Amino acid sequence: MSTAVVVGGGPNGLAAAVRLARAGVRVTVLEAAGEIGGGARSGEAIVPGLLHDHCSAIHPMTIGSPFLRGLGLERFGLEFRLPEIDCAHPLADGTAGVLHRSVAATADGLGGADGRRWRQLFEGPVAGYDRLADDLMGPLLRLPRHPLRLARFGAPALLPATAVARAFSGERARALFGGAAAHAFRPLDRPLSAAVGLGLLTAGHRHGWAVAVGGSGAITRALAALLTELGGVVETGAPVRSADRLPPADLVLYDLAPGAVAALLGDRLPPRTARAYRRFRHGPGAFKVDFAVAGGVPWTAGPARRAGTVHLGGSFAELAAAERAVTAGRMPERPFVLVGQQYLADPGRSAGDVHPLWTYAHVPHGWTGDATEAVIARIESFAPGFRERVLGLAVRRPADFAADNPNFVGGDIMTGAKDVRQLVLGPRATLHPYATGLPGHFLCSAATPPGPGVHGMCGANAAEAALRWLRGRPAGGRGRGAARG
Ligand SMILES: Cc1cc2nc3c(=O)[nH]c(=O)nc-3n(C[C@H](O)[C@H](O)[C@H](O)COP(=O)(O)OP(=O)(O)OC[C@H]3O[C@@H](n4cnc5c(N)ncnc54)[C@H](O)[C@@H]3O)c2cc1C
Repeated sequence: MSTAVVVGGGPNGLAAAVRLARAGVRVTVLEAAGEIGGGARSGEAIVPGLLHDHCSAIHPMTIGSPFLRGLGLERFGLEFRLPEIDCAHPLADGTAGVLHRSVAATADGLGGADGRRWRQLFEGPVAGYDRLADDLMGPLLRLPRHPLRLARFGAPALLPATAVARAFSGERARALFGGAAAHAFRPLDRPLSAAVGLGLLTAGHRHGWAVAVGGSGAITRALAALLTELGGVVETGAPVRSADRLPPADLVLYDLAPGAVAALLGDRLPPRTARAYRRFRHGPGAFKVDFAVAGGVPWTAGPARRAGTVHLGGSFAELAAAERAVTAGRMPERPFVLVGQQYLADPGRSAGDVHPLWTYAHVPHGWTGDATEAVIARIESFAPGFRERVLGLAVRRPADFAADNPNFVGGDIMTGAKDVRQLVLGPRATLHPYATGLPGHFLCSAATPPGPGVHGMCGANAAEAALRWLRGRPAGGRGRGAARG
């Protein structure tokens, strides 16, 4: 029986482990933290009985993941629910851009020419999303399975978000699109900066901006339970500090940032890979504030009161300026703030009329300042009276993210800057983005395609690459695939 060690028990490490275990490989996951889950964990933080997501909160890519969907994780307690409104983007005049699950309802809300444009942009990709996902959720440098569909989606995705936004005449549509595009932590005027927004909106229109009942930790707990059922082993509190200390195995998969893999493997890595991993760039950081709020947030814009996600970025121009500033290392006075109201779909997270509110602001890489007041002021400007409802809060700075999980270097919760090169190629220029070049050793974290998010596709794709290598290897030796290992 072949054996594998997976270093890191985040969503991708666990997905890789499950894929390998299903192929009959005996897998051990070594997780540094006291619990599995990485960027998909939840727990009490402020008031007893109030459940907060430590990192990921909203899951259009999870519910639509080609790999996770096929695992039957509901057997292990995983249940998704949808808020009444997926996302609202309030504006200074009291109105809001509103994202409904249905393309038609969203377009009707935007009205007129912008509604028609929204339909043109999303109707086709949403109808073909499940097939499109096969191509979008793997390495982009390969022959696509659905080339026409991909080309139709890909044309606007190659554009800067500013160019897509210009197709809309009203601020509600522009800002609604811009808020989704800004999830990429990139200036919105750069090529390909439309891609992440189009992906999130298309996935959401197809499957919804879902939340996991009982917290995002339910996703990774279900993956770990399935792994255990398949005979896999998970060890927590087991940081791997040197590759020499790894147990012997045919395969090693790293759910780590590339720089950490370079540090672990040292001169065992081929020099080209080592150079590329050490040069891997990390993006801006996140500054997270969780709140306990009495009675919820008194949003001025009605739809925001019913939305699972609220984007606080103001107009498209304001949002674009804030994203440009954080990428350039400057903290904007009014940062882009993402707000999660998961309790609307999953009321069990609240304690009576006290609700957990999840927020984070985009800040410069490694920023050491305090954005708590900026986050509160941002919410207050769209929900006067919010401040008086706050019963308690918990703050996580960029350095706290990095200390909790070394993948989040400088608070970069995307595990790498999503510039054109890293978005398309992953950590190095190769047709084999999961291969480290060291036979049997593979990278499976969100630094690889298709990138960040709790979809497990980086892990599943890396595991496929590892299995191909294993099959090509003659018993006891290096095989055809060894160079790509
Ligand atoms: C604040 C925040 C909000 C987010 N919001 C969303 C969202 O709403 N929706 C969404 O889909 N995604 C979201 N994300 C992103 C998502 O969480 C990540 O993209 C995802 O978790 C990446 O999964 P991964 O398995 O690649 O790595 P990670 O989740 O980073 O897991 C890596 C694991 O490896 C472990 N590890 C690191 N070093 C070692 C070592 N040396 N030895 C052993 N173990 C080690 C870490 O402890 C960690 O458990 C968010 C992230 C953050 C932080």
